[in-house]
Amino acid sequence: MAVSKVSFYGHVRQYTNIKSEIDANIQKVLMSGEYVTGPMLKQFEAELAKYAGTKYAIGVANGTDALWLAMMALGLKAGDEIITNANTFFATAEAGWITGCKVVLVDCDEKTRCIDIAKLKAAITPKTKAIVPVHLYGQCAPMREIRKIADEHKLFVIEDNAQAIDAHGDNFKIGELSDAVCTSFIIQKNLGTFGDSGAVYTNNPDIDAKIRKLRNHGSAKRNCHSFGFNSRLDDLHAGILSAKLKHITAWTDTRRAKAKRYTEGLKGVDFITLPTELPGYRHVYHLYVVETKDTADRDKLLKHLNDHGVDAKTHYSIAIHQQEGYPWGKDAEIRGTLANVEKNAASCVSLPLYPEITDEEVDYTIQMVKSYKK
Ligand SMILES: *Cc1c(COP(=O)(O)O)cnc(C)c1O
Repeated sequence: MAVSKVSFYGHVRQYTNIKSEIDANIQKVLMSGEYVTGPMLKQFEAELAKYAGTKYAIGVANGTDALWLAMMALGLKAGDEIITNANTFFATAEAGWITGCKVVLVDCDEKTRCIDIAKLKAAITPKTKAIVPVHLYGQCAPMREIRKIADEHKLFVIEDNAQAIDAHGDNFKIGELSDAVCTSFIIQKNLGTFGDSGAVYTNNPDIDAKIRKLRNHGSAKRNCHSFGFNSRLDDLHAGILSAKLKHITAWTDTRRAKAKRYTEGLKGVDFITLPTELPGYRHVYHLYVVETKDTADRDKLLKHLNDHGVDAKTHYSIAIHQQEGYPWGKDAEIRGTLANVEKNAASCVSLPLYPEITDEEVDYTIQMVKSYKK
């Protein structure tokens, strides 16, 4: 049948493909009688740490909690500055504000849209305590440079890895060059459950112990509490994620193949620029984001695609500092210009991409991009 509609997500297709494995784990949890910090959570945490190559992995309620729990475990507090790029999902900055920190926003790189290294360097002050690089759209930020800067200034590095599970850089792994890695498992991420979940992984036993307590009402031992929260990853989600984790590498390979199909099919389309894949990096294409060269084309291209059944979206058309009411009395500062961030916000279009998308759907989307007339 000829394609006339392309969905942005393939959640139900993915569930259908591995239904028996997911259902078996759900049944296992239901019949175990243990649903919160039970054996399935322990199993998934062990599998995740092994997969990530870190000593510890701690399941938490969502990716935002993962970020602020990591910040809190590192001792970040009011008056401390964290630096991130202004073109990210809102939660990166939000986590800083939850912790009471000052969120310093800097520009992104012209091509990769990850944090700009020169702008990052220029934004450091004696109050800076942490860099929070975002592996945006599924490609790692330049962690070696970031680690070097962090070492020079004695800063923590917290990777926002919500979009880049299974990615790696040119000879560096996620988690290798940072204090903590924070990940989200909300359904639309590359590894996602049917709801919310997240995790922190780290090689630091102190961070592991602190987050384990913080996520569980400050309790490491029954009836004994210090200040904390409730931010646990429950066992049903852990079971779903455990079933899905076995497929992540194959899913990423498929995402990369579909991305390649887009890139080949869209080569030479003169009104857009295509994603930049850095040599040696494994870009996991959480999102396949093209940018219109003329910002005046973006909304029109988006409408053209939507009108023709392609559920294209934008990530993110309103940068953090452009949100209404920013910064809502929170401690925030822009350092340097945000010219690249603003260009990205005004020109980005995300095309549908997931392991379950068919080649025909990718080809239809390519055709619809090509049929756009200014
Ligand atoms: C999704 C996302 C988060 C937040 O994750 P939640 O699980 O939705 O709280 C944080 N940072 C980035 C870059 C994200 O894409």
